[in-house]
Amino acid sequence: MNFQPDEEDNLYRDKLRAIAAEYGWQEMRALRDEAEELHLERFSFEFQNRLGREGLIGLTWPAPYGKGARVDQQFLMAEELECQGFPGYGLTSIQRGGGMLLRSGSEEQIAEHLPHVADGSWVYCQGLSEPGAGSDLLSLRTRAVREGDEYVINGSKLWTSTAHHANWCSLLVRTDPEQSRHKGLSLLLVDLKSPGVTMQPVWVLGGWHVNAVFYDNVRVPAKNLVGQENQGWKVITGNLDEERAMSFGGTETRLLCARLIHRLQERADTLGESDLERLGHFIMELEADRLLYLRVGLQAARGEDTSGSGPMSKVYGSELAQQFVEWAAELLGRETLYQESEDVLANDLEQQVRVATVLTVIGGTSEVQRNIVATRYLGLPRSN
Ligand SMILES: Cc1cc2nc3c(=O)[nH]c(=O)nc-3n(C[C@H](O)[C@H](O)[C@H](O)COP(=O)(O)OP(=O)(O)OC[C@H]3O[C@@H](n4cnc5c(N)ncnc54)[C@H](O)[C@@H]3O)c2cc1C
Repeated sequence: MNFQPDEEDNLYRDKLRAIAAEYGWQEMRALRDEAEELHLERFSFEFQNRLGREGLIGLTWPAPYGKGARVDQQFLMAEELECQGFPGYGLTSIQRGGGMLLRSGSEEQIAEHLPHVADGSWVYCQGLSEPGAGSDLLSLRTRAVREGDEYVINGSKLWTSTAHHANWCSLLVRTDPEQSRHKGLSLLLVDLKSPGVTMQPVWVLGGWHVNAVFYDNVRVPAKNLVGQENQGWKVITGNLDEERAMSFGGTETRLLCARLIHRLQERADTLGESDLERLGHFIMELEADRLLYLRVGLQAARGEDTSGSGPMSKVYGSELAQQFVEWAAELLGRETLYQESEDVLANDLEQQVRVATVLTVIGGTSEVQRNIVATRYLGLPRSN
């Protein structure tokens, strides 16, 4: 495969660099402050709308919603965003909301939702996990009962990211409790302004909050069912595969590593041999993570099964991020982390020490991902 950017790739990259040039460090700081004020993870509505106006949100989606770009071009864009210091995470979660509709939504749902996703005005969250149903998602109990042209939902979800600012939730509910665990589930699009929806913040280590969301006799039009009734598991596994194929920590760690090397240039000779060796290992591993991530993306674009390779990339990237930031923090001196300072590297490192831990849980824990790699990728038998 040729890794050199072609003319079209360069056009996308130049466009992003031109947008980046409009943002000085103060504007960039303001985007980050926006995420902090909204208690969101690396998310900026202002920036999202800016990308929407440029038609860059649905880059790989077909026209008229997107530009039909290749998945490696999207990869290039995500890397460029991260390198420029933009809050790119929010974007990937929006892209997933749109991707789910393109895969499984009806023509009517696509026509109603996609234009708003593509222009950056609607945000989606994902309501899967519940108290007692995280790793073992199939034991979820939130119930939806069909009444005429509506579903009536009762139950609660835990850990719903972004719900406090999202317009819609893709909610996994049990529509047939008589069927075996994965057969009686359905996916509904729920307008979060519907009567009966309430939420409470749940703070996480990274410094933002997710939500406990309660559904009390919430009425949703039956036309908001995505896919077939009781076939929600099929819809959501496509989403989970896409989520696990995202970069979990690798991209931002490469940026931190580049900044660290820049910092060390002036005192490389003060590093011991073991630290130099460790740094060399991290650089090799970060490159391996990059290729793994790109490979999963290309497999997905070819319509191949990524249910085994996505979790492999997820575990590798998130654990590597955690190892790198902890090592870098030791190297710079842990006291650097506890100072309020203008030092961009120290500030980002401090936050990333906390975020990297969260990344090994969000989207499925490392233990569970390893189990999936064993069964799906290696074909080993399940333990029960
Ligand atoms: C910041 C954050 C954001 C999140 N955002 C969302 C969201 O937007 N939407 C959503 O639906 N969910 C979200 N989640 C939930 C996330 O998917 C779950 O936290 C995760 O799947 C783990 O589930 P749990 O927290 O219930 O832990 P549990 O499932 O209770 O696991 C507890 C421990 O047991 C281990 N364990 C469990 N089962 C096994 C097994 N079979 N083999 C080996 N070890 C096992 C786990 O690895 C873990 O260490 C988010 C979580 C976090 C932290």
